[in-house]
Amino acid sequence: MTQKVDRIVVVGGGSAGWMVAAALVTGLKGRAAVEVVESEDIGIVGVGEATFPSIRSYNQLIGIDERDFMRATNGTYKLGIRFCDWLTVGQDYFHTFGHFGNLFGSQTLWAQHRRMGLTEPLGVQCVPTVMAMKGRFVLPSEQAQFKYAYHFDAIQYAAFLRKLAMQRGARHTQGRITEVSRRADGGVAAVQLEDGRRIEGDLFVDCSGFRSLLLGQALEEPFVDFSHWLPVDGAWACPTERVGEELAPYTQATALEGGWAWRIPLQNRTGHGHVFASRFIDPDRAREQLLARLDGKPLGEPRLLRFTTGHRERFWVHNVVAIGLSSGFLEPLESTSIYLIQDGIARLMTLLTAGRPVDENDRALFNDGAARRFARIRDFIILHYCLTRRRDSELWRHVSSMELPETLAFRMELWRRYGVLHEYDEEGFDATSWLAIHAGMEHWPQRNDPVFAEIPPERAMQALDQRRKAIAASVEHMPQHHRTLLKMLG
Ligand SMILES: Cc1cc2nc3c(=O)[nH]c(=O)nc-3n(C[C@H](O)[C@H](O)[C@H](O)COP(=O)(O)OP(=O)(O)OC[C@H]3O[C@@H](n4cnc5c(N)ncnc54)[C@H](O)[C@@H]3O)c2cc1C
Repeated sequence: MTQKVDRIVVVGGGSAGWMVAAALVTGLKGRAAVEVVESEDIGIVGVGEATFPSIRSYNQLIGIDERDFMRATNGTYKLGIRFCDWLTVGQDYFHTFGHFGNLFGSQTLWAQHRRMGLTEPLGVQCVPTVMAMKGRFVLPSEQAQFKYAYHFDAIQYAAFLRKLAMQRGARHTQGRITEVSRRADGGVAAVQLEDGRRIEGDLFVDCSGFRSLLLGQALEEPFVDFSHWLPVDGAWACPTERVGEELAPYTQATALEGGWAWRIPLQNRTGHGHVFASRFIDPDRAREQLLARLDGKPLGEPRLLRFTTGHRERFWVHNVVAIGLSSGFLEPLESTSIYLIQDGIARLMTLLTAGRPVDENDRALFNDGAARRFARIRDFIILHYCLTRRRDSELWRHVSSMELPETLAFRMELWRRYGVLHEYDEEGFDATSWLAIHAGMEHWPQRNDPVFAEIPPERAMQALDQRRKAIAASVEHMPQHHRTLLKMLG
């Protein structure tokens, strides 16, 4: 059955709800009425503080000025993530959003890095990694090409987008939804609020968070559970006062006994949290471990969030499409949730602006693409865990011995045997990102590349040495992150 869309109801006013609403009012230019329904009593998750570079395209498409956005959300720049203690306790590496250069015309030849007898990290060949190590930040240029993202206050981001969406015509309704009325074909006809108001729509975008009010609860769409591979199921979050002037231009993710801890610097405070697997660590112990790590005065009591990793089997069923936590959650290790919101928005906008009613094939296309995107990112996140050499607690023993998804096992085998970074469709992370994790976790191919064998070792060493020195010299002249930020904010 095809679906005409004149009235769109967005259920939820967290980052997902307002990102969807801002995109709809901007992209549809008044061709459909957009109404956001949210309950202030329920509130929003509000912990999405670290992002992925694609957030910049979203902001640009919506027409958001970077300075206004950074001011409104206490934003800082993010070059990538520093992973501490993931391979062994005491070892660390970076995954930044930059490339390592083409070694003799081929990315794949980086697989020979260890065979050249190099002991320095691959990161010294990557501009944003060296910038991150030194705490520097400048915007990309001809000379220094890389991608960057932001850290920001997710509550302030939702408020910023709400203002923008409402200025462009979105309607905002406050109230708790207590009932969902169904249509004869199984879709949703209307949502009913506690005070009796009834809101009808042609299309309902479920952005109701972990509750998954429409897709999960009303339509009972099954959940595809990833917790065997991604066993974390809870997090304590506790921001602290900012300490000192300097700001790390990266997220820090430190592996702990039963999970990992994040550290995210904002202009006004530092985000801290401990993501843990309750199968392997008692939540109270996880809380204590977080409190012991804080490097500033806590701005309140730690807040506990619970979740299951995975996603709804289908994302768009009848006239309900779920975007954000209502559709699924993979855990925040690579800051991909807001990216997945954007991905859902892009798929939705493509269909809504196609100039014809949405039909069953469109929904199948949406569902298939979204599920594959989740699977690709799931595999990428598992890679961070499964290559560990830690055996010091139950979590690390589990992740180092668990059976892997076939898709991941296959690409890891290709890398091990041939140094090939195989890519599927719907990838969230490109080959350079996969290389950064393989290299950081010291997972190298087993054989000599025949092409590389033809390159005299001195020539290879000389080329690498030159590149390393040129990067180090250029970064030395760059300002510290907090200085660039202060200048930009004016
Ligand atoms: C521990 C943790 C860390 C995270 N870190 C990151 C990160 O670093 N980077 C990243 O990209 N993402 C991160 N995320 C995910 C990120 O927080 C979410 O993707 C993002 O905030 C979007 O949430 P949401 O809008 O889907 O849900 P929510 O913020 O939960 O919003 C749900 C909305 O639905 C409304 N609602 C629910 N029920 C009803 C009802 N009955 N009636 C009316 N309204 C209702 C609520 O009022 C609210 O407005 C993290 C998540 C967790 C749990």
